[in-house]
Amino acid sequence: MTRRIDLKRIHTAHFGTMRAINRQIVLNYVRDHGPISRAEIARRTALQRSTISEIVDSLLVEGLVEEIGAGRSTGGRCPTLLGLRASGAAAIGVDIGPARTTVAACDLAGCVLEREEFETDHDFGQTIRRAATAAVRLLGRNPGQIEGIGVSLPGLVDPATGRLIYVPYFNWHDLDVARGLEAATGLKVAVDNDANAAALAELWFGRAEVSEARDFIMVFIAEGVGTGLIFDRQIYRGEGGAAGEFGHMVIGERAPVPCSCGGYDCWEAFASGRAAVERYARLVPDAEGARLLSFAQLIDRALDGEGPAREALRETARYLGKGISNLVVGFSPEIVVVGGAITRAWELVSDILAEAVKRSVRRDLPAARITPSTIGDEASLMGALSLVLADKFAPVAAI
Ligand SMILES: [Zn+2]
Repeated sequence: MTRRIDLKRIHTAHFGTMRAINRQIVLNYVRDHGPISRAEIARRTALQRSTISEIVDSLLVEGLVEEIGAGRSTGGRCPTLLGLRASGAAAIGVDIGPARTTVAACDLAGCVLEREEFETDHDFGQTIRRAATAAVRLLGRNPGQIEGIGVSLPGLVDPATGRLIYVPYFNWHDLDVARGLEAATGLKVAVDNDANAAALAELWFGRAEVSEARDFIMVFIAEGVGTGLIFDRQIYRGEGGAAGEFGHMVIGERAPVPCSCGGYDCWEAFASGRAAVERYARLVPDAEGARLLSFAQLIDRALDGEGPAREALRETARYLGKGISNLVVGFSPEIVVVGGAITRAWELVSDILAEAVKRSVRRDLPAARITPSTIGDEASLMGALSLVLADKFAPVAAI
C-alpha cells in the first residue's frame, strides 16, 4: 500500500477502531462465506476465538446474523453455523426514474420483499410525498430492523447534504430530498445519483466477476448517460460529489437530440435512450408517434425483430461504444459494466460494444472486459437499496 497517511484525519484512529474493524471482518465473513461456524472464521482470520465469540454475540443481538443450524463435526460437538439474518426487512430503496418511481423493501442480502410503483410526478414535492407514504406503508407491513432509506435520482446529487443539485429531465434545481422522507419515516436517508448507486450495487451485490474487481466503471443508460467510477473498491466521487459526469464529454457533432445541458456534441446526446428513440423516429413513417415511445418500448420492438428499431439501437450502441472506448483509454479499468434497459437487448448490441473496447486496447495492456449489469435491469433500484445496505458491511474508516 502506498497510500499516504492523511495527518488531518489521524484523530479518527481511537481505541475502538481495531474492534470496529474486527467486527466488520467477521460480519463480512458471514455475508460472503455463510453458513460458516465461529471456528471456521477463526481459522481463516487468525482472530482469537474469544474475540469472534464476543463479536458474534453482539451481531446476534443487533439482528444482523443468526444461527442457522449445526454443521459437520470435525471431532467433538457439531459447530453452530452462522448466516446473515434471512427474515425481515433491512432497507428501503426509492428509485426516482424519469417515468416511474419504485419504492421497495429488501432484506439484508438485497432480496426485494415488497414494492410499490407510481408515475413520477413532475412536481418534486408531490413525488417525495408519495414516496414517503409508500415507505411508511412498507415499514408497517415489513417488520424487521430497517435502518435507513436509500434514494437514487437521475441527475446531479450532493450525497453529503442529501440535496439534489440538478435533475435535467424534470428541471429540478437545488432541492432537499432527505428531509421530507426523514420527517415522514424517522429513518436516516442517503441520496445519490442513479449511476453511482448502480455501481455501488454491483460492488456489493453483483456477480463475483464484477464485485471482486478492484476497479470498474458502470455506464448507466436511461434518458441520459451516467457513469459511476469504482476505484480501489470504492466510489470515486471527486470534489463536491460531481465526478463521473462523462455524459457531457464531446463525442461528435450534430447529435440527433440535445443533451440535457443543451449541447449537441455530448456523449449523452448520441448514446442515451432519447437519442435511440429519435433515430428510430427518423426511420419510420409515423415519426411523431414514434417520438412518444419510451426507450424500453423501443427495445421491446427491437427484440420483436422490427428492422428500424434494431437499426436505431445498433447505431446508438456504436456511439455508446465510442464513449466507452475513451473511458477505457483514460482509466484502464478491469471491467466496464453497462446498466439500464439496454441490457435486455444485449445480444443485439454486444458485438458492437466489444469491438469498440477492443479498439481502445493499447499495446501489451490487458483488454478491459465489457459486461451487462450483473444485477439485472433494475440496477438503479438495487443501487438505492445498496446505499443503506453497503453502509452496514463497509469497513470502518481507518487512517
Ligand atoms: Zn451535455
